[in-house]
Amino acid sequence: QSTLTIKDLHVAIDGKEILKGVNLEIKGGEFHAIMGPNGTGKSTLSSAIMGHPKYEITQGSITLDGEDVLEMEVDERARAGLFLAMQYPSEITGVTNAEFLRSAVNARREEGDEISLMKFIRQMDGNMDLLEMDQDMAQRYLNEGFSGGEKKRNEILQLMTIQPKIAILDEIDSGLDIDALKVVSKGINKMRGEDFGCLMITHYQRLLNYITPDHVHVMMQGKIVKSGGSELAERLEAEGYDWIKQELGIED
Ligand code: ADP
Ligand code: MG
Ligand code: MG
Repeated sequence: QSTLTIKDLHVAIDGKEILKGVNLEIKGGEFHAIMGPNGTGKSTLSSAIMGHPKYEITQGSITLDGEDVLEMEVDERARAGLFLAMQYPSEITGVTNAEFLRSAVNARREEGDEISLMKFIRQMDGNMDLLEMDQDMAQRYLNEGFSGGEKKRNEILQLMTIQPKIAILDEIDSGLDIDALKVVSKGINKMRGEDFGCLMITHYQRLLNYITPDHVHVMMQGKIVKSGGSELAERLEAEGYDWIKQELGIED
């Protein structure tokens, strides 16, 4: 069982402080959601965890099972078991989806213990069936000409194939119609288990109708200002964020 621990995290972009002391612990087996108004730093948190160079950590720590994540290069973070579904995944020309997935799986395995091609294809086919993806998606170049919905499904295919310890899914629900949302949720729910922890970042409560979080956190002005169970997401859906602002005396 893994633990991602974020302590007093401060992050600046171009010298401007965006995150102002975030504390969060995600363990294997747990599903967390971070909600909050636009522009409060949710995506900044996911970018900082994955090591985007634009995001400067000015204070605090991120560790995975006690290992200093901030000392790791981006690809080392992935190899250590972190997964980040990018809000805007980029195209990788000349690499098919299947090739990318297989090398990502093998990057997390010991040398000499690479997954066999047969086993890999069997797993990928099964996951693609579950996600109701066209089989020809496997042979297309990664993200090249993928529609918004195809990209999201493909991110969940990556998640299911790579089997990370901890995943951060930033707005995995944005731009999905209800059928695609259900399929994507089915894939994420299939990941549930003691060896998998998940942080879902979402502006809307809709996703959480399909994936019930164990813990819900509200981010405002660069901090987590409130935490609770799934009932917190329901209250936010019904009442918005104003009651929290009032409770905390936050001005817009
Ligand atoms: P959220 O995901 O909660 O909507 P973001 O983390 O994307 O919020 O943004 C938080 C703040 O940081 C915003 O004020 C945004 O304008 C700023 N910001 C985010 N990314 C960048 C960037 N690459 N360059 C400059 N400012 C940024
Ligand atoms: Mg935003
Ligand atoms: Mg965002």
